[in-house]
Amino acid sequence: MQTNFDNSYARLPDAFYAKQPPVPVAKPEVIAVNESLAQELGLPLASLTADVLAGNTLLDGSEPIAQLYAGHQFGNFVPQLGDGRAVLLGEVIDQNGNRRDIQLKGSGRTPFSRGGDGRAWLGPVLREYVVSEAMHALGVPTTRALGAVTTGEDVIRERVLPGAVLARVASSHIRVGTFQVFASRGNAEATRTLMEHAIERHYPDADTPLDFLSAVTAAQAELIAAWMSVGFIHGVMNTDNMAISGETIDYGPCAFMDAYHPSTVFSSIDQMGRYAFQNQPNMGIWNLAQLASSLLPLMDGNDEDNITAAEDRLHAFPEVFGAAWSRRFRAKIGLTTEEEGDGALIQGLLQRMATSQADFTNTFRALATRRDASNEITEDGAWDSWQEQWAARLSREPGDPEATMRAANSAIIPRNHRVEQMIAAAVEGDFAPFHRMTAALATPYEDGPDTAYFATAPLPDERVARTFCGT
Ligand code: AMP
Ligand code: MG
Repeated sequence: MQTNFDNSYARLPDAFYAKQPPVPVAKPEVIAVNESLAQELGLPLASLTADVLAGNTLLDGSEPIAQLYAGHQFGNFVPQLGDGRAVLLGEVIDQNGNRRDIQLKGSGRTPFSRGGDGRAWLGPVLREYVVSEAMHALGVPTTRALGAVTTGEDVIRERVLPGAVLARVASSHIRVGTFQVFASRGNAEATRTLMEHAIERHYPDADTPLDFLSAVTAAQAELIAAWMSVGFIHGVMNTDNMAISGETIDYGPCAFMDAYHPSTVFSSIDQMGRYAFQNQPNMGIWNLAQLASSLLPLMDGNDEDNITAAEDRLHAFPEVFGAAWSRRFRAKIGLTTEEEGDGALIQGLLQRMATSQADFTNTFRALATRRDASNEITEDGAWDSWQEQWAARLSREPGDPEATMRAANSAIIPRNHRVEQMIAAAVEGDFAPFHRMTAALATPYEDGPDTAYFATAPLPDERVARTFCGT
């Protein structure tokens, strides 16, 4: 099957990756193929067989490699990570002329596997499929899911589990950690080659390392504001899990909040709350500071001036983030115009939501559909006092607040308890809940037959308190 692969990363120097074909699996069976994404990529559906999605057969033109990177994991630098359970098959130019990586995740051991088995089990594969596609439908930049297969092989974790492979699509898999691996080895030439490659792919207007830093900073600030506007917690914002493109990448112990609280943490491995909901912008800046220090050796002039200049560029983060956050949250309460007191109005709502443990998604959707969230903001008098201020502000709003809010406040999200129930069913061989979820979450802003089911917050015994890493 001829596909228009054009593998620019594989043309970079050998030190950037290891040539590594996927390790074949016993008996691949298709769980799902993302037809609209396949079409967007110009890949005929007939080409996306179980064998192709599992890596048993390679599409003509693919040149599988495992990419090298490093990264700060929970603040500690690990000098070498890399694709330990994934291979990049290659890049295709999609129907819109955009370059897209196709990667298999769970495709077997690579030179960067360390102690790992290179495999994935069904749970994280289905979670990433559902959540990444939901994020896309919610309008958040993200990697995509092209397809998923079971492997017919067991994977040993805390128990024996069914193996699976995810075919993932990204505008690239270049991470902050990809810069760190070369910079930490003092290899300025490789760092520069990587930067030039990343600029060409993602930020063609950037001429200098500082401009590149600014572009990545702005993209991350926009991204994290988008996460927060849908109540998303990434869970493992390590520098190896931050894509230079500004897409959400590496869905591990990620989660959407049900009840709103700014300090919400889900990940079992995040004991200090480093990546708590409200801490995500700070961690974004922290990661970008690591990118900045990797880029310093590429800057002309003396270090001291360069550090000051890089810090200046990083200081744009709060500004871009703040503007994006305000724009999104203003829309969430029906505002298209800007007034001085809008920030306080939004904060007033969020504070009341936190006190009442209001459901994040359902509160905002109730504003859109009923202009009434009194069943969520239950604390005495809290709703009435906010509603009064809100109504006064809306009276000065020219547009159609309902339409604004319906487009900004989704009816549904992939709730953790539904995700866990879906995975439990799949492990027993029942994929109906998976298909039901992907179908409903393809149009999260519209009311449909399954909206009530997926909008329902977890009962106390359904509540998911902890999520576990995606291995
Ligand atoms: P993560 O933060 O989960 O994206 O992964 C951190 C690092 O661990 C990456 O270098 C992964 O490739 C590697 N890794 C995770 N799971 C496995 C596995 N099952 N086998 C080999 N490497 C793995
Ligand atoms: Mg990762």
